[in-house]
Amino acid sequence: MSNAPALDLTAFPRYALIEGSTPIQHLSRLSKLLGDVDIYVKRDDVTGLGGGGSKLRKLEFLLGEALAQGADTVITVGARQSNHARLTAAAAARAGLACEVVLTRMVPREDDDYVHNGNVLLDALLGARIHDLPGNADAMAFAQNRADELRKAGHKVYLAPLGGSSAVGNLGYAACAVEILEQARALGVSFDRIAVPNGSGGTQAGLVAGLLAMGEDPTRVVSHNVLATHENTLSNTRLKAKETLALLRPDAVLPDASVIVEGGQRGEGYGIPTDAMREAVRLLASVEGLLLDPVYSGKAFAGLLHDIRSKTFAPGSKVVFLMTGGLPGLYAYRSAF
Ligand SMILES: *Cc1c(COP(=O)(O)O)cnc(C)c1O
Repeated sequence: MSNAPALDLTAFPRYALIEGSTPIQHLSRLSKLLGDVDIYVKRDDVTGLGGGGSKLRKLEFLLGEALAQGADTVITVGARQSNHARLTAAAAARAGLACEVVLTRMVPREDDDYVHNGNVLLDALLGARIHDLPGNADAMAFAQNRADELRKAGHKVYLAPLGGSSAVGNLGYAACAVEILEQARALGVSFDRIAVPNGSGGTQAGLVAGLLAMGEDPTRVVSHNVLATHENTLSNTRLKAKETLALLRPDAVLPDASVIVEGGQRGEGYGIPTDAMREAVRLLASVEGLLLDPVYSGKAFAGLLHDIRSKTFAPGSKVVFLMTGGLPGLYAYRSAF
């Protein structure tokens, strides 16, 4: 890895939610079991606030922007078991802001655990007002109407998009790219792949934009789509990576080939369990004691396992998998295991 200059993100308001760096750990038992490839995990699930998870990285910049605008209320949108909604509620509580979450029943699960346990339980405990919408509802339109209503009543409202994946939110993962490079250097390893889940695309977009802005190869980041189709995820993530890079290096160009998304793990749709996801969750839990989530990281890790088992990596390759959190989802998906 080259001695790349660190990114300067000081121009962007940031509200600290994560202390220090999240650990990178070597999975020696799983690596030995699978052979050939050295597997590491970047523990973005180990972030203290509100049960932890990757969305806190975006929320540092989203809340930075909200507070700079003088907001007193944050509204965001998501699926019923949205981790982003839960962590927005936690971050808002920490910052002293009111929070409303607009949750749709877009996932075809209606059992009690899915509807009321997991993230939904935590949203309520964290003080968020929950709006419960049917699966076909336009959550953003509802959120905008609600924001207008609150503004008429004298409030200053900040609207965060699905997954927190605005260009400003994605800066959280540009910052994470810096962190990964610094840690790799300190560990004396060079990662051939940075494997990540892809939902709303901001995680990958931020990593890709951050690496490009530092003059590093962005094609080491490979995602698996779990929300939209492969084609839509690819175009959405490219767009978001371009928007994010424009904040960092207004003159830089993002080649389309910078964004690599692998399909094959989404199954029947967002939030719908697959056998490969179940196997991945059980394997990592039983061999390494680590907990994936059923919606994002479980499917993405299944994709990584598939790639390792089908010998797509050269022997001795080093891979780091981004553990993004979402543990509360396991309680919501009890009936799926
Ligand atoms: C939101 C989320 C992701 C996906 O991140 P995007 O930036 O939306 O692609 C992955 N894992 C977990 C646990 C998440 O909550």
